[in-house]
Amino acid sequence: MRNTIPVAVLAGAALFASVPARAQGKLNVVTTTEDLASIAREVGGDHITVESIAKGFQDPHFVEAKPSFILKLQKADVLIAVGRELEIGWLPPLIQQSRNARIQVGAQGYLDASLGATILEIPNGNITRAMGDVHPLGNPHYWMDPENGKRIGKEIADKLSELRSGDSAFFQQQLTSFTTRLDTAEKRWLAQMAPYKGTKMVTYHRSFPNFAERFGLDIVGYVEPRPGIPPTPQHTLDLINEMKRQNVKLVLVEPYFDMKTPMAIGRDTGAQVLVMPPSVGGTKDVPDYFKLFDSDINLLIDAIKKSGAK
Ligand SMILES: [Zn+2]
Repeated sequence: MRNTIPVAVLAGAALFASVPARAQGKLNVVTTTEDLASIAREVGGDHITVESIAKGFQDPHFVEAKPSFILKLQKADVLIAVGRELEIGWLPPLIQQSRNARIQVGAQGYLDASLGATILEIPNGNITRAMGDVHPLGNPHYWMDPENGKRIGKEIADKLSELRSGDSAFFQQQLTSFTTRLDTAEKRWLAQMAPYKGTKMVTYHRSFPNFAERFGLDIVGYVEPRPGIPPTPQHTLDLINEMKRQNVKLVLVEPYFDMKTPMAIGRDTGAQVLVMPPSVGGTKDVPDYFKLFDSDINLLIDAIKKSGAK
């Protein structure tokens, strides 16, 4: 009698049957950060759904893993990560626990967005984690340069095209539109920042080297003694002395750091202390990648004017 079909065969058939349905639906994209989500939305348009794991008001190096993140990853067709070990402290166990073969590192549905980007501060020689450095493979905050935004957009468009070849023309058209609008915006940002070229500043974490290089700012020191290491009294004292020596009148602080040390530095040096988000979603004023630069540049120019540095 062949009127019973083994359960395993049925399950296999159901799994197989679900493949064409998936291929026709929207690609389910999960990104590690809201910056990548914003760029993915530009490129993928209404042919994809996008969700970010981390929120822009969180320190992207130290995100607390939640069970809901694993659920997101279980359903993902594509996972886009910043890479350069930005997410090393929290993403690998989530990927593993998702048991989703599509998005494992090296699988077709995993994209490291840093592949085409210009990366600064790549260390020479041996770096050990005992030194407390959370930037072992160069600076992972590379999205803070619109030129890298375009490169990230291209990586995403190519990956989406690879996974949905039928929509390739759509993704490439979306990419062209994004790149053109970003070019126009970048010209405006460069013009706004031109009068402030060479302005010296200190930042809490090394979140802004790409931003500083693009817009001609001079970062002379950091509140953290090393990336990921909280301020120490000796380092703070050295930093204050250096700021006085170079007449630095601006301290930038990412929204997720403690304000105590930056405020003390501000009081001692007379510098303006500005909270400036390095990510989409960092404050309510930065809902997307374009607004991130619009808002940061406006905040920065106001603070430079108040500081009397220019
Ligand atoms: Zn960092």
